Amino acid sequence: MPQHPETLALHAGWRRDPATKAVAVPIYQTTSYQFDDAAHASRLFGLEELGNIYTRIMNPTTDVLEQRVAALEGGVAALAVASGQAASAMAVQNLAVAGDNIVSSTALYGGTWNLFANTLKDQGIEVRFVDAANPEAFVRASDDRTRAWYAETLPNPKLEVFPIAEVAALGRPMGIPLIMDNTAAPTLVRPFEHGAAVVMLSTTKFLGGHGTSIGGIIVDGGNFDWAAHPQRQPALHRPDPSYHGAVWAEAAKAMGPIAYILKARVTLLRDLGAAMSPFNAFLTLQGIETLPLRMREHCRNAEAVADFLAGRPEVTRVIHPKYLKGEAAARTAKYLTRGHGGLLGFELAGGVEAGRRFIDALNLVYHVANIGDARSLAIHPASTTHSQLSPEDQLATGVSPGYVRLSIGLEHPEDILADLGQALDASAG
Ligand SMILES: *Cc1c(COP(=O)(O)O)cnc(C)c1O
Repeated sequence: MPQHPETLALHAGWRRDPATKAVAVPIYQTTSYQFDDAAHASRLFGLEELGNIYTRIMNPTTDVLEQRVAALEGGVAALAVASGQAASAMAVQNLAVAGDNIVSSTALYGGTWNLFANTLKDQGIEVRFVDAANPEAFVRASDDRTRAWYAETLPNPKLEVFPIAEVAALGRPMGIPLIMDNTAAPTLVRPFEHGAAVVMLSTTKFLGGHGTSIGGIIVDGGNFDWAAHPQRQPALHRPDPSYHGAVWAEAAKAMGPIAYILKARVTLLRDLGAAMSPFNAFLTLQGIETLPLRMREHCRNAEAVADFLAGRPEVTRVIHPKYLKGEAAARTAKYLTRGHGGLLGFELAGGVEAGRRFIDALNLVYHVANIGDARSLAIHPASTTHSQLSPEDQLATGVSPGYVRLSIGLEHPEDILADLGQALDASAG
């Protein structure tokens, strides 16, 4: 199988339907699967053999999606779930239980911030936040109950690439895996190439690509030596009473280096039940067929917009990977070799009021709480996505009052620039 993303996006995990020879991936809209006989059923339930039992745990349509995303990310296996939020939560809960902690970059999606600062805390999992600009901060914030480190590849709103290799290399000798949220940079950055152990993505965004389906996925890099760190990773070494005392780091060995993702599927997904529907898996697969192609256009159009905004008098600052300075610029050059992504932000000289006027004047560009759509999107985070955060927390995640975020779509660039230009005229009041 060739390893180029354009080819994997069309072919990985599927050739044709074994039952009908259909080329398009069928939507297996079924809850359950007939067992061959009693012995077969008990082998499946005992994990002596992997196979379909019930769609809450696995489904043939979803399985193709999982194989395809695992191939695109360069991992060994994946687990699709109901949303990006479910993926973030389960990626952490798979290693950390009450009394444990993880260390996370402060530069996070607003929903992840709430999950980490409030809901996981209520569940007894402490999240310690550190500034990603300093990789050593992850080591300093860790203790013997630290189970994982967490960060986003290209976090909003600063769009400063996370130092993946620098941080992953510090964690590995300590037995601490780096979990990367790669939602904003699929096909552009492959975190496993830089030492990350787990990747999660909201498939709602660029993978689905057309604003139709909420979904999330966790990918196992198969590159982390869990068995070497029994003290650090008790979740994979404690006998699991729900599988007759199975120890995941050992039990999965015969199936390949998939201990992490197998445990997530057969314990967390089984018990918490945040499964992706087969229909959403189908729509996400449809989106992925053009992902590499779309990412190139997103990158090209976003760069045209960044250059346009940089020349406008109403704009005091353009936030785009190409426009970063110093260490952040060096990280752009190191990690974003395949393109700068489809996201950018800017600040208006006129502050909050100019921001509201700008948003209200847009005609072509949609005002929605999403990114990664084929259409161009805009939002004012301080009054929407980040409004549940305190003003201090907003600033900690990089949201200033006059900041506008854009997710640039696939329209003709001249039409995007024309709409932004007239909205900038209107923003001056
Ligand atoms: C949207 C998003 C999420 C959450 O995904 P949902 O599919 O909306 O639950 C997580 N991380 C990032 C970076 C996102 O943009």
